[in-house]
Amino acid sequence: MRKKAKKSLGQNFLVSKNHIEKIILAVNPQPEDLILEIGPGRGAITKSLVESGARVIAVELDSDLAGFLQKEFSERKNFSVIHADILDVKLCGLLYKKAKVVGNLPYYVSTAILQKIVREKDFILDCTFMFQKEVADRILAQPKNKQRGFLTVIAQTFLFVEKIFEVPPFAFRPVPKVWSSVVKAIPKEESDIEIERFFDFVGKCFSQKRKTLFNNLRGLDLIDLAQLEQILETVEINKTQRAEALTNEEWKKLFLAFEKALKAKP
Ligand code: SAM
Repeated sequence: MRKKAKKSLGQNFLVSKNHIEKIILAVNPQPEDLILEIGPGRGAITKSLVESGARVIAVELDSDLAGFLQKEFSERKNFSVIHADILDVKLCGLLYKKAKVVGNLPYYVSTAILQKIVREKDFILDCTFMFQKEVADRILAQPKNKQRGFLTVIAQTFLFVEKIFEVPPFAFRPVPKVWSSVVKAIPKEESDIEIERFFDFVGKCFSQKRKTLFNNLRGLDLIDLAQLEQILETVEINKTQRAEALTNEEWKKLFLAFEKALKAKP
């Protein structure tokens, strides 16, 4: 498979055997596993996944590559490839049990894929994802770090996230300009937070990152000022803080208190 890589599809193919092995170790595929691979490309990671005996379903947007993989693994009963955009695929219709998800993710769409994973986490056992290092740093950022934002909060609220290792540009062809990081993500049991409303709330709180959380919330005009002050006091969040300073626990408390106040509104 020597076709030119398509930049528009984020095609930087992994060629370093050492890094492919490290990803496979992190996935730890077992014969009884169901594995979803996002963007299998030329099959660098796919090959070892299939050889493990696990059932592997791959979703690839590039029709040439999907056709290539279909032929390449035509003898393997435990492999199938779907030619589709992963963002259009409903995991509930694709997976017959909880799956391990793997992907050297196309960078242009990696944050949208992470949001999809959060929304559909009930179908997922764990994820092993390669991100651009800058994106991984945002996902993993701790309170008071400037990189902490919407993506951080939604990822850390619904997933345990951990960086496993970094990957240098020379591990790929074509060689990208930046380093990458492999991140493991495991869904949390999070029952009392309604995901779409939380996404919306956190998005609004970060709408103007340089403003304080209080001023961002005040600008929304959802509840009156005195009530907003009361909520912040009850959940012990200082009015002068910015959204990036809040811990995961504080986000949860603030959101639930805000929801309660909105529901009680006449
Ligand atoms: N897994 C291969 C590897 O490690 O060498 C390829 C990784 S490459 C960074 C990303 C792959 O995702 C490409 O094969 C690209 O065609 C595919 N892709 C891009 N956008 C996609 C999408 N929306 N849905 C599914 N696959 C996509």
